[in-house]
Amino acid sequence: MPDSLNDKITLVTGAGSGIGRATSLVLAREGATIAVSDIDADGGEETLSAIKDMGGDGMFVHADVSRPADVEAMVGAVIQAYGRLDCAYNNAGIEGYWGGRLHEYPEDTFDRLIDINVKGVWLCLKYEIPEMLKQGGGAIVNTASAAGLVGSRRLSVYSASKHAVVGLTKSAALEYAADNIRVNAVCPGIIDTPMMDRLVEGRDDYAAAIPTRQPIGRKGTPNEIAEAVAWLCSDAASLVTGLAMAVDGAFTAQ
Ligand code: NAP
Repeated sequence: MPDSLNDKITLVTGAGSGIGRATSLVLAREGATIAVSDIDADGGEETLSAIKDMGGDGMFVHADVSRPADVEAMVGAVIQAYGRLDCAYNNAGIEGYWGGRLHEYPEDTFDRLIDINVKGVWLCLKYEIPEMLKQGGGAIVNTASAAGLVGSRRLSVYSASKHAVVGLTKSAALEYAADNIRVNAVCPGIIDTPMMDRLVEGRDDYAAAIPTRQPIGRKGTPNEIAEAVAWLCSDAASLVTGLAMAVDGAFTAQ
């Protein structure tokens, strides 16, 4: 897909680490200008430096996606800098891991997880879509998860949050299809990122089971998600909207 995103102004949240960073670099390789956003300023600035090192262009915008004022200001900063928003990758999320079962899950962790993973994606859509309506179209990708397609023991609330992202994605696709705004979700399986390192820390049994949990026999790489997101953002996917695309080494095919 050489230059499949030439001159597209693209916003990426959670761009300071893992899947968001890898995707920012792949989108930049495809010619997009990247508004790198993250709650972690150091990580975000590192991603922006890497984009510039490869000859790309962009800016860093600090934002906590669970805060409405931050999200409104984040989208506003992109419009002020570039005058439009062609693509958005709403990727920021947390694992909120709790070792126990659903009935033991702490209420404050539940609230924080839902605030970031669900409200955060909704807030991004809420402020991105009006800009895309004004300019006559756009492409949005949300990060859900394989855990947004099937249940997940010990990750019940995370799984619920990602099912909600799939619901937001499909509903938004329906509501804005006639406005030339495509909305899709990518559903990663087990991907080698700092989040996955935190999930397996101290859980040797879980780490050892990864090859069997993911039939392809290995973890995925952030780049393997990035390539799917780049395609979904590109005009090559012009008929694709409302899709929750599993990129999971057959995890959800079982
Ligand atoms: P990651 O390496 O932890 O990266 C997530 C980034 O998002 C971090 O820079 C993090 O900053 C930032 N972030 C956290 N809360 C935020 C907030 N409120 N506002 C803005 N940014 C925030 O994780 P990842 O594995 O790349 O995950 C990216 C997305 O993929 C998440 O939505 C995750 O649920 C999803 N996912 C991951 C996997 C996997 O196996 N890795 C599988 C399925 C889905 P801090 O580091 O400061 O918190």
